[in-house]
Amino acid sequence: MRLILLGPPGAGKGTQAVRLVERLGIPQLSTGDMLRAAVAAETPIGLKAKAVMESGGLVSDDIVIGIVADRIEEADARKGFILDGFPRTVAQAEALDRMLQQKGLKLDAVVELVVDQDALVHRIVKRAEDAKAAGQPVRKDDDPEVFKTRLAAYNRDTAVVSPYYEKTDRLKRIDGMQPIDAVTEAMKAAIGG
Ligand code: AMP
Repeated sequence: MRLILLGPPGAGKGTQAVRLVERLGIPQLSTGDMLRAAVAAETPIGLKAKAVMESGGLVSDDIVIGIVADRIEEADARKGFILDGFPRTVAQAEALDRMLQQKGLKLDAVVELVVDQDALVHRIVKRAEDAKAAGQPVRKDDDPEVFKTRLAAYNRDTAVVSPYYEKTDRLKRIDGMQPIDAVTEAMKAAIGG
């Protein structure tokens, strides 16, 4: 199964992706995680991406498309994958369609978690507090001010991605404000499994 999770930062894509990984046995491909790993390892890509990520902006399409193109070639992605945080622009969505077409593959579902954006800032503050309480590192971009910039980037560049899939009848919308388990159930129903 090849699946895309869409929705603003803090919508719960990562949480749901982890559950889908367990249930479906396919990897979660989070471009945010891949970029954070590149930043931590100080690779050339990481060095380019660091400042823009910390400010809450979007890393360039070329970089992110390159990362995803390489990642979906890996053996564990052959039987499917869950894309989380990608595509974030229409150019990325078009590039993904081309990549899959070249391989003779298609997407099985695109699911958008629809949320109340005013509630998201509270969620993100809680995510930072929970991470701190658990002794885990707190993401630099989970600061409320940076989060607002991330939300603005979403509304400017990424909100147009769901209509891109809607036009071709590939989009399913789920109420992401429900409790986590209810979202998981809705997701099961949406993707048929
Ligand atoms: P995330 O973990 O998905 O919230 O991503 C964290 C940050 O990584 C974002 O705020 C962007 O700076 C960068 N990023 C992740 N995925 C993408 C993408 N598909 N396109 C551009 N930037 C991205």
